[in-house]
Amino acid sequence: MTRELELICPVCHTFKKISVPDTIFNQSVYGTIKIQVPLGAVCPEHQFIAFVDTKGIVRGYERIDMLMKIPPSGEEVNEQSDFTLNRTIKKYGLYGVFCLIHAKIFNYPAYILKKEWDLDDSKQLNTFLDSYLPKKYLDFTYPIIFIDESEYGKIKLRKRKVLLIDFYQNIFSTPWVEKLKFEEFIIRKAMEMIDHDEQLFIIKQEIMNFINEAEEIKNILEGTQAIYKKDLINTLSENLSLPKINISRLNLILTFLDQRYSRKSSRKVRKKVEEFLNFL
Ligand SMILES: [Zn+2]
Repeated sequence: MTRELELICPVCHTFKKISVPDTIFNQSVYGTIKIQVPLGAVCPEHQFIAFVDTKGIVRGYERIDMLMKIPPSGEEVNEQSDFTLNRTIKKYGLYGVFCLIHAKIFNYPAYILKKEWDLDDSKQLNTFLDSYLPKKYLDFTYPIIFIDESEYGKIKLRKRKVLLIDFYQNIFSTPWVEKLKFEEFIIRKAMEMIDHDEQLFIIKQEIMNFINEAEEIKNILEGTQAIYKKDLINTLSENLSLPKINISRLNLILTFLDQRYSRKSSRKVRKKVEEFLNFL
């Protein structure tokens, strides 16, 4: 059973009907699924993400303003060789890579649907993505798992916070609500480099900076009962001698602490906000 969706390019309004299997909607974890629409699928000039609800109604679009660097000829690699950023983007798309990196940093279990005849290169994929994370987090990070399409119906993902990706249809069922701006930023920065090691270095460093800030926030929260976001940002800036981070970065850090540690931390921040609201 399939469903027809009419997708419209958010930039130039070119449209095209695509069909999507019904099972995707039935398995959707959090109500919205994202469809990665690569160059050429709907519009020859723009790539974007379509947000679709479980009834199959398109709720919105987001464009991805990033051009893929075409790897120089001769770089074409065989299936068995190691992953690189360019190769991973070529295989999974930009949004696919944002999602996979997001799942790794924030520790969401992730499943990729595969056909029976597909090569299971999850080991190489995990090794590649894990190289972006600090070593001490690796033992506590879910591996990305490939599952055969035939077993898809058997697993119950509905109630769990998991990322489910069908790359054949470019469909993503994501357990998070946040936009992947951080991932987009670090990938964009890395793509300015041609050398794989330099790309790796940049991504690793950006993630390390983020995690350092998160760990410092965690320390601050452990020493307090409740705190305003504004004060938290100021204290972080003083403690690390860094410019003040913005609210969206702080919210992302609190999500990281929720996912990786406990919900106690972010509750301390909210508590203060509630007190303030009661006071009004
Ligand atoms: Zn377009």
